[in-house]
Amino acid sequence: MGIDRLAWLNQIMSRSELFAITQALSDRLIYYKDIGIQQMPKAKGAAGVVARPKVPDSLKQIRETIGDCTRCPLHKGRTHIVFGEGNPKADLMFVGEGPGRDEDKTGRPFVGKAGQLLTKIIQAMKMKREDVYIANIVKCRPPDNRTPLPEEIATCEGFLYRQINVVGPKVIVCLGSVAAQNLLKTDAKISQLRGRFTEWQGIQVMPTYHPAFLLRNPNMKKAVWEDMKTVMRYLSQSKDTK
Ligand code: URA
Repeated sequence: MGIDRLAWLNQIMSRSELFAITQALSDRLIYYKDIGIQQMPKAKGAAGVVARPKVPDSLKQIRETIGDCTRCPLHKGRTHIVFGEGNPKADLMFVGEGPGRDEDKTGRPFVGKAGQLLTKIIQAMKMKREDVYIANIVKCRPPDNRTPLPEEIATCEGFLYRQINVVGPKVIVCLGSVAAQNLLKTDAKISQLRGRFTEWQGIQVMPTYHPAFLLRNPNMKKAVWEDMKTVMRYLSQSKDTK
C-alpha cells in the first residue's frame, strides 16, 4: 500500500480499528480458502454474500474460531461472548442486534425482558425456543447497550454468516432495524422492511420489530404477530422440503 493511502487511513481510523478490520478480512479470506473458493467476485454490491461451503463447517468450529475474541473493542466490556443457541438444524432462525446486560451475564441470547417476550412469540407460533436458532449481529455487548458500530459489525458478521450457513434455516426473522439493515445491506427503515419476505442467499428473510421496541410500544405487537403468521404459513407450506 502506498504511503499516502496509509497516512489517509491513519487519519480516518485508529490503529486498533484498522487492525480489527484487517483481522476480520483475514479471517474471512481464510474461511473462503477453507471452503474451496479460489477467486473473489468483482461485482459491486457483493457485501454480505454467504458462500455456500463445499467443505463442512460446524457450529463447534465457528465457536473455536471465535475463541476468546479480541478482534474489536467490544471485547473490553464483555463478560461472556454470546454465540447463539438452539436447534442446529432449525428451519427458523431469529437474529437480533447484540447482547444486552442479561445476555452478557449469562452468555445466552435473548434471556432478559425482551428475550422473555421473544420466547412468548415463539410459543405463540406453536414452537419452543429449542426448536429455533437464535443469534445476534454482534456477539459481545456494546457499552450501555448502544447500537453496534459499523466496524464492530464488520468484524463479527462473518461468524453469523457461517452460523446461518451451517444451520441452513428456511426463514430468518430479523428482529429490529440493526439486524434487518445489516443482514440485507439496506438503509431502509424497519417500518418499510417489515411484513414481507426478502430473499437473501436463497433464504426468506422476514424483518420485524425488535421485542424491546414492543415492550415500549405494545400496540405494535399486532404487526409482529401478522409477520409471524406470514412466517408460519411459509414454513408449513415448505414442510417437507429440507
Ligand atoms: N437484544 C438483542 O438484540 N439480542 C439479545 O440477545 C438480547 C436483547
